[in-house]
Formats: sequence, C-alpha cells, structure tokens
Amino acid sequence: MKIVSLQVMKQHFISDLQKLLNTSQKIVILPHKNPDGDALGSTLALRFFLLKKKHEAVVISPNDYPDFLNWLPGQDTVLKFNKDTKEVRQKIDSATLIFTLDFNNLSRIGDLEPLIKGSKATKIMIDHHESPGDYASLMYSDPSMSSTCEMVYHLINTLNKNAFTSEISDCLYTGIMTDTGSFRYPNTTPKTHKAIAHLIEAGASSSNIHQKIYDSASFSRLKLLGITLSNMKHIKNLPIVYMTLSQEELNTCDYKKGDTEGFVNYGLSMEGILFSCIMIENQQEGILKMSFRSQGNFSVNDFARIYFNGGGHHNAAGGMSKESIKKTVIRFEKAIKEVANQF
Ligand code: 5GP
Ligand code: MN
Repeated sequence: MKIVSLQVMKQHFISDLQKLLNTSQKIVILPHKNPDGDALGSTLALRFFLLKKKHEAVVISPNDYPDFLNWLPGQDTVLKFNKDTKEVRQKIDSATLIFTLDFNNLSRIGDLEPLIKGSKATKIMIDHHESPGDYASLMYSDPSMSSTCEMVYHLINTLNKNAFTSEISDCLYTGIMTDTGSFRYPNTTPKTHKAIAHLIEAGASSSNIHQKIYDSASFSRLKLLGITLSNMKHIKNLPIVYMTLSQEELNTCDYKKGDTEGFVNYGLSMEGILFSCIMIENQQEGILKMSFRSQGNFSVNDFARIYFNGGGHHNAAGGMSKESIKKTVIRFEKAIKEVANQF
C-alpha cells in the first residue's frame, strides 16, 4: 500500500515538475545548513541537470561546508548566505522556483528561513527524512530512500536517462556513498546498488571519491578523534555509549568544520552497542550539537524529537541543547532512563 502511494506521488511529482520545467525558470537550489555529502551532492547534481535544460540555476548554502567536500564538481559556484549575503538575497528575490533538498522543514536552513518563507517562488521538496513539513507545493518525499542523491538519480533517470555526465555522476555517487556509510547501512537496497552501477557506467570515479572523502584527514583531526574516544562513556548495564567534545578540546586540535564527521559511528563499532551519541560544544552559536546513531529497533529520530529538539532518520538523527555539557549529560542520562526499557 505504502509503495503504491509513493509511486503515485512520484509520478504526480514528475509530471507536475515536467510542466514547470517546460518554461524557462530562475531556479534556486537549497541544501540544509552545514551541508553534508548528500545535501551538497544532490543540489550540485540537480543544478548541472537544470543548466542543461537551459534554466538559470544556482545552489545557495546557508553556510560553509567541510573541506572534504571542496572538490565536488561545481562546488566553486555555490553561494553561501553567511558570505555572499547580498547576492543571495537578489537570487532569492528573483527566483521563480526554489528546490529544497535533503531537508523537509524550513528550520533546517537557519537564517535563510524568513527569506524563503517570504518568497513567492514555487517551492519543491525532494527529501528522504521522516515527517515532512508542508511548505512546498510540489513534494517528492520518500523516507525509504537511502539518500536525497538516490532520489535525484531516479528523477533524472526518469526525465532523461542519457543526462548523466561524469559531473552529475560524481555528485550523486558521493551523496549515496556518504549517507549509506559506504553502502553498509540498512537503507542500502538493491535499487541503491543498481543506481550506483549506472552512475559508475556514466563516469563516476568511485575509488577516487572514496579516497577524497575518507583519506583526507589532517593530523589534528586524528588527534581530536583520540580525545573523543578517550572521553567515551558506557552507560552501565545498557548498550549505550556517549562522547563529548568541549570547545576547548576542539580548539587544542585546531578544529575545522567537518573534523568531527563520523566520530559518533565509532560508538556503534563496539560489540553489543545499539545506541551512540556525541555532544559537541559550539561556543559561537551557544549550543551543543548532538548526533545520535542506533542499530536496530530503537528510533533515534523519536529520541531526538522528544528530548533534544531535533530529528532525522530512524537510525541516524541529530538535535541540540542550549545547556552546558555537564547539564546536558545529566539530561541525556535522565532521558536514557526513560527509554531504557526499549533496549
Ligand atoms: P548528523 O548527526 O550527521 O548531523 O545528522 C544525522 C541525520 O539527522 C541527518 O539526516 C540530518 O539531516 C538529521 N539531523 C541532524 N541534526 C538535525 C536537527 O537538528 N534537526 C533535524 N530535524 N534533523 C537533524
Ligand atoms: Mn541525506
């Protein structure tokens, strides 16, 4: 039943989108704040595709992205709201279509939210998170998909299966790879592998991409990983670990955006652990950014929503706290007591 309704939704989405793309449009494409491989890969791929169809198209990121993504094809054209503020305002003012990719709630774009809410452009959502908001007039929302990049793959493949250039393929490969943990999380399906095979045939440089993303760490990032792992706490009698990183610890390791990417997963690499959490202090924003990962039935999406003002997916979610590390740890441990019977 669910599959049928998703297929119908996708068909409607594609035919409505085709109608819109029949006339020339001024298009803005948005990833979420702190874009990851999937957010940046999907927006850049869609931009290449739309440019080929003779539209104007620009990717606007709410803020910077990590250095390990700064080789993606087309990334040099991305406008950043925190730096290119004036140009971003102009592009949004004159946009006729706004695509929002890899998020489903406008709170995920930070300070860009009021500008997008105020824009008269037609809004289009393509996303694989649960519980979509209702800001978009066209929606392709499918939480069973591994990644937004896999959804953009299906979209392009339906519209024109010969449109995959090596640039588009590299971008989409990257997002599918990062959101599936290199094709090993349960969100990886036979369809995902078929999409990946097609992308490699179309020119995605698979081993090169793995190397650029995973073998580009700095010495200080590895030092920071060492600190994170030595801060890890195991909650007694439960399959749960958490890690903390203070601003001071980040500073000693010359922290750069993206340096902590993937650290939370180390918790799950321990035998028997089903829930891992990391709390990272961000003094500039006055918050702790939290990441949650689970294995199996426990929904970190629900946990993040209920206790830490966040959300995401069943097994990977994020949230935040406005309190100190010490107070947040106390709150976290209290929350864990409330959900302990689920383990
Ligand atoms: P990460 O822990 O890697 O930052 O995020 C894991 C997943 O949760 C991603 O799919 C991300 O988009 C989502 N996520 C992260 N932080 C938040 C948040 O504060 N709110 C919501 N709704 N989703 C989040
Ligand atoms: Mn994603």
